[in-house]
Amino acid sequence: MASQQGFVSDTAPSTALPHVRPTSSLPRAVRPPRAKPLPARSRVECLLYIELHPCPCGQADVDWARPRESRIDGRRAATFDGDCHGCGTSRGFQFHLPDEPVAPPAFGGAEPSRIIGPHEFLALGRRAEAAVAGDPARLPIASAEAALHVLTVAIAAHEEVVKFIPPDGPAVPREAFTSDAARSAFDHAPDGYDRAALTARLADYRTLERAYRRRLAPH
Ligand SMILES: [Zn+2]
Repeated sequence: MASQQGFVSDTAPSTALPHVRPTSSLPRAVRPPRAKPLPARSRVECLLYIELHPCPCGQADVDWARPRESRIDGRRAATFDGDCHGCGTSRGFQFHLPDEPVAPPAFGGAEPSRIIGPHEFLALGRRAEAAVAGDPARLPIASAEAALHVLTVAIAAHEEVVKFIPPDGPAVPREAFTSDAARSAFDHAPDGYDRAALTARLADYRTLERAYRRRLAPH
């Protein structure tokens, strides 16, 4: 369970996703002079985007200052600034946020992400799934609490993949993958993007989530 602290939290950027290859066609990290803010749906989506875009030197760790809230073009915005641990370069990201962002662990509302693709969400969901211990009844309370948090990340990430499926469609369409790396991953394992497979997986997760909540309920 050592990796559970790294999963997306709503408090500070972490380095949770070293195994998710950033996809080159995603918007690049914003550097001064700043480009237009990226359209995020929530603070956790900002943090995941930052994790997916390490410094060009390869280092993802940054001492981020507390994000600054402002209004840009009349809309709520959050700015993250910090210095790379690897090379000292100043790094920055700027996002637009809805006035009433969804609460964590959700990454957004009903609409799919405009800044993170289905491949990245599925990779996060799979990594979170792998970090969830099996039987909550056998876990100490603290471990069960941590595992439940990771499980909620797995659920939220898989829900994000489903949002890329058209309302009456059977699967995430290939057009939803915006980089060669993501399309290649999809072509090698398209079944993971089927609505039926995702729905079944989410049902299993929610059964497990209920078991964790029972384990953690006061006796
Ligand atoms: Zn660097």
